[in-house]
Amino acid sequence: MGALSGVRTAVKIVNPATEEVIAEVEMADAAEVDRVVERAARAFPAWRAVAPGERARLLRRFAQVVEDHAEELARLEIAGAGHTIGNARWEAGNVRDVLNFYAGAPERNHGRQIPVPGGVDVTFAEPLGVVGIIVPWNFPMVIMTWGVAPALAAGNTVVVKPAEWTPLTALRLAELALEAGLPEGVLQVVPGEGEVAGARLVEHPDVRKIVFTGSTEVGKLIGAKAAEQVKRVTLELGGKSANIVFADADLDKAAASAPMAVFDNSGQDCCARSRILVERSVYDDFLVRLSQAVREVQVGDPNDPATQMGPLISAEHRERVASFVTEADVYATGSCPAGPGYWFPPTVLAGSSSESFRRAFAEEIFGPVVSVVPFEDEADAVRIANDTAYGLSGSIWTRDVGRALRVARAVEAGNLSVNSHSSVRYWTPFGGFKQSGLGRELGPDALSAFTETKNVFISTE
Ligand code: NAD
Repeated sequence: MGALSGVRTAVKIVNPATEEVIAEVEMADAAEVDRVVERAARAFPAWRAVAPGERARLLRRFAQVVEDHAEELARLEIAGAGHTIGNARWEAGNVRDVLNFYAGAPERNHGRQIPVPGGVDVTFAEPLGVVGIIVPWNFPMVIMTWGVAPALAAGNTVVVKPAEWTPLTALRLAELALEAGLPEGVLQVVPGEGEVAGARLVEHPDVRKIVFTGSTEVGKLIGAKAAEQVKRVTLELGGKSANIVFADADLDKAAASAPMAVFDNSGQDCCARSRILVERSVYDDFLVRLSQAVREVQVGDPNDPATQMGPLISAEHRERVASFVTEADVYATGSCPAGPGYWFPPTVLAGSSSESFRRAFAEEIFGPVVSVVPFEDEADAVRIANDTAYGLSGSIWTRDVGRALRVARAVEAGNLSVNSHSSVRYWTPFGGFKQSGLGRELGPDALSAFTETKNVFISTE
């Protein structure tokens, strides 16, 4: 998709499971982005002035309208992004929950009172103004909402630029916000190409903050561009997370849960545990169990509640994923449907020191491919886990509590789980170390990413 200035293009939205065109969406040019930002800037003074309790009530109502349309939103994410119905329903619920969670924030957006001689010193948590949120295609409505909810709660107005392939749930959420009573201009969605609409949002002087979730490559470009205006950024970028299995772990559980820790959403998950590190004494045993579990993964029709894994997002992406798989490195594969749809089978790479294996082990594939290697001891496990530019997520499997804590402290990643693969809860912080990102979303602190601290001294003399 080239950068067209002043010319509007339309993108066909394709159902990844059927290859049917389900919609056509016009892509905004830079001038359209400017108009949208201007509306957001005009809406800002009135929105920041809405009383905290009233802003909270509007966000709760938005959450309720989402709840009322949860099945519709889920179906739209299935058709537009190929998500399984189980995931899509969870995602619609997560949108509701995140809105409800931050609906509790406006009345708690406290400043401080700091003792000073000769007066009173207070701080205010001021909103920033217009916030731009640039969203990837892998979890469209969820990732959008992680930015939108705290930004609105803090009194900012928001412009969302969804990914080219997946704008449908974002557009629907903006309609639902209006239905819930949010004033015009407070939450707008502007579909467009990254290098056109996304780039314009980043460089627009009235956009005071960019929340970007996407590849590390584009995140670096955005960070550099934003720095020219000292524009605030939150960056949620790529990952190559380690799943570390020690010999004393519950191997049945570790092996049974490992496939969906990487193949969930067809591996198109920034937190995918795409490197499995196994202590050498149980390496062969683990591989046998893992292969069995991989063969049992249900891949197919996303609308079937029994399905665990759907298609990849596009033919182009499938080609990229396939480029990481060399037959000689493959230890096991699961199944996937033939026929229409961008299918790719769950794939385990192991036991190889080939150049192709090393590439697959190092780079973010963003597909259902996992690489397994042995390690010698705790220090070796930590060394391999940290031998990457990324630092988003990871898991540690051991029955030794002390070791679990030592390794959790030693692995350079923002979201770790012990004897589990859970990493995202809307009330706990989420974000990356190193080149996986900058800043944190969700949890109790996200509000502060959408405010500036203002200090005011009032003389009493
Ligand atoms: P991407 O970087 O290609 O695109 C992300 C978004 O940025 C899209 O909306 C795109 O249109 C826009 N964009 C592209 N070029 C731009 C530019 N020059 N200026 C402004 N905007 C631009 O990423 P993707 O392929 O959509 O998503 C996959 C990536 O996202 C993976 O690397 C994945 O790890 C990452 N991701 C990270 C998290 C996280 O929370 N850390 C979550 C989900 C996805």
